[in-house]
Order: sequence, then structure tokens, then C-alpha cells
Amino acid sequence: MRGVLNEQTKTVHKSTDQTHRLAACGALFHVSAESTVSVDVADAVDEGDASRCGRCFDDAGGY
Ligand SMILES: [Zn+2]
Repeated sequence: MRGVLNEQTKTVHKSTDQTHRLAACGALFHVSAESTVSVDVADAVDEGDASRCGRCFDDAGGY
């Protein structure tokens, strides 16, 4: 699954259909494009030490 990573917080969000630069939950609205990158969600979590956004992923478990 494709997602968008906030490199400042190391949080992966589900990306919107329109662009891989915006999170489905809206969290990245105020984050500059330089701080976000389109990634594969599983790779970012397993290899990039990122955590999944609790609002974008129901199974992420808490905050
Ligand atoms: Zn999110």
C-alpha cells in the first residue's frame, strides 16, 4: 500500500487518491512538501522505523 511519510515525525499516513503528498486524515496539510515523501507503508514501518498514523490506520493502535 502506498502512503506518505512525514519525515519530521516519522509517521506514515494513508495518502489521498489525488496526491501522494497529502494524508487522508489531513495531518500533513501544514507540513511542507520537503518534509513528506511517498513511500510503501510496510517498508517505511519495517525498514524506516516509522509508525503508522492512528487516524489513517484503524489497526495502528493508539497514539
Ligand atoms: Zn494520518
